[in-house]
Amino acid sequence: MARITFLGAAGTVTGSKYLVEVNQKRLLIDCGLFQGGDELSQRNWQKLPQAPATIDFVALTHAHLDHTGYLPRLVSGGFRGPIFANATTQELCALLLPDSAHLMEEDAEHATRHGYSSHKPALPLYAQDQVVATLKKFASMPRLGECRISPEFLIRSHDAGHILGSSSLELVITESAKNTTILFSGDLGRYDQVLLKAILARHRPMWR
Ligand SMILES: [Zn+2]
Repeated sequence: MARITFLGAAGTVTGSKYLVEVNQKRLLIDCGLFQGGDELSQRNWQKLPQAPATIDFVALTHAHLDHTGYLPRLVSGGFRGPIFANATTQELCALLLPDSAHLMEEDAEHATRHGYSSHKPALPLYAQDQVVATLKKFASMPRLGECRISPEFLIRSHDAGHILGSSSLELVITESAKNTTILFSGDLGRYDQVLLKAILARHRPMWR
């Protein structure tokens, strides 16, 4: 029976990571950083309950770091599979993830200089090398429409109108010839933006 585990964005809005398991295949929807204060940041250092090497695929709703910023840590922890994202999300990740590593490296250097880290020298959560390795794992997914990830997982992407490239992912899980559909909305909206469609009202009737 398919199982979903919430590895983030539960009791807080950051750290989005939803692990879907079926037939011993594991798909992680989003791979976000916890953000917003020391207690939440510390959670990024905790090991995931499932070893990254046992996760087969990742698929991303959009590029914001609270949905993608843990990816380099997942890869350095042993994840070897593809990271599915549409072309726009990939382009944004190629900007955001190096920037995220740069900020972490700067913060670590600052902590070392001012002596307030438990590590000596202070360590960044990840560095540029892990980002480079992560970006090599990206695999293409259409902006709209279907993407077959494996016999168990099919994803249909819908515009989420949140940032460029943002999608809601409708996941169809096939198990013993029966399908179950789950919608991972990702972040939704905004309204009245020049570059984005306000899509909520238009899509609401098709979500169930
Ligand atoms: Zn977002």
